[in-house]
Amino acid sequence: MTIDLDSWRNLPAAQQPDWPDVDELARVVAELETLPPLVFAGECDQLKQRLGAVARGEAFLLQGGDCAETFAANSADNLRNKLKTLLQMAVVLTYAASIPVVKVGRIAGQYAKPRSKPVEVRDGVELPVYRGDAVNGLEFTPEARVPDPKRLLKVYHASAATLNLARAFTTGGYADLRQVHAWNQDFVKESPAGERYERLAGEIDRALAFMRACGADPEEFHTVEFYSSHEALILEYERALTRIDSRTGLPYDTSAHMVWVGERTRDLNGAHIEFVSKIRNPIGVKLGPKTSPEHALALIDKLDPEREPGRLTFITRMGADKIRDVLPALVEKVTASGAQVCWVCDPMHGNTYEAPSGHKTRRFDDVLDEVKGFFEVHRELGTHPGGIHIELTGDDVTECVGGGFDLVEDDLHTRYESACDPRLNRSQSLDLAFLVAEMYRE
Ligand code: PEP
Ligand code: MN
Repeated sequence: MTIDLDSWRNLPAAQQPDWPDVDELARVVAELETLPPLVFAGECDQLKQRLGAVARGEAFLLQGGDCAETFAANSADNLRNKLKTLLQMAVVLTYAASIPVVKVGRIAGQYAKPRSKPVEVRDGVELPVYRGDAVNGLEFTPEARVPDPKRLLKVYHASAATLNLARAFTTGGYADLRQVHAWNQDFVKESPAGERYERLAGEIDRALAFMRACGADPEEFHTVEFYSSHEALILEYERALTRIDSRTGLPYDTSAHMVWVGERTRDLNGAHIEFVSKIRNPIGVKLGPKTSPEHALALIDKLDPEREPGRLTFITRMGADKIRDVLPALVEKVTASGAQVCWVCDPMHGNTYEAPSGHKTRRFDDVLDEVKGFFEVHRELGTHPGGIHIELTGDDVTECVGGGFDLVEDDLHTRYESACDPRLNRSQSLDLAFLVAEMYRE
């Protein structure tokens, strides 16, 4: 049976750019179709296995990176700092949860953004909204905001370069466990909240010393498995990178190991859900506070008819004030149906507000509280809090308020660099990891 990878074309596709030149788009798509895959199908299967362990309660997912990657910020330093932060968080979480942490970046392909409004108004001037570097430019000029299909080729090449460097960093010694632990010790020393983290860091230190004394030095201490993911938003791009795996004859979207469908495009009868139902990668779906249990069950039927653990990840983004009310019914009904999905908490997107300065921001305490609520609900129901999905950067930006250094709204202007949503900075990300680790002890 041949799988129809174009069935989505007959369905409404939300959030697609209004490309001014469709012939140019066709040329770009034709070129993308000839280019090598960015990831291999076998790697996607391996991630699906790892996520299967998450679904069974035997592993934890740490997924994170920028809200929107940009071509301008695609540098070695930027990637190194993000990876460093993710690896540091992963060590703390691995120790605290005593289960493997599956590491997945919002990295190497996260270039397209769904938007709530089609236009942006500044000082009375109205322009099309920025939809990510995959589509148009961030600069507030009419020229920059015109969608340009050639950007999709740039996304491909930027993603290839990022993945190449990420593979080098994570297998070439940079991810060495002792090194990562030493960075954590530095963080604990420098953070105003460090005293609170000292005990945990000390325990990890002794565990490592014990293993060293035993002569244990496994390969896993020196390299890490790292996977890429992004929102599958621009369907022409995702379709062009979808290839038939020669081993199995099945289609994989080779733009990333895992792709997810966002809160604004998860319509059951829409093009996005149709498209991802056809590919064999692990799939995520964001679930906001209005998601009904029936919708979640219908998504499972459509995306995971075989009930394959690791195939489907529900990334809930409810808001700190709603998670304890909304999540229980969803988890209960999905569990009762017999499906095994990964439950992952995105504590970012339900907690965004505008500061008086006009900056989009989030309070660290709200982020933490949503994760806390997520753990509480799963504990209550006896289900597995499978992971966290975070918008972060490895740099010392000032985009979210709170955290160990207690950033306030008046600080936001000092280093606000996000092209879209506010990210936890390096120390806020590590604060979060240590505080989530504490949740395992409560
Ligand atoms: C995002 O992850 O950046 C995003 C837009 O999320 P959501 O679809 O949950 O709003
Ligand atoms: Mn975002």
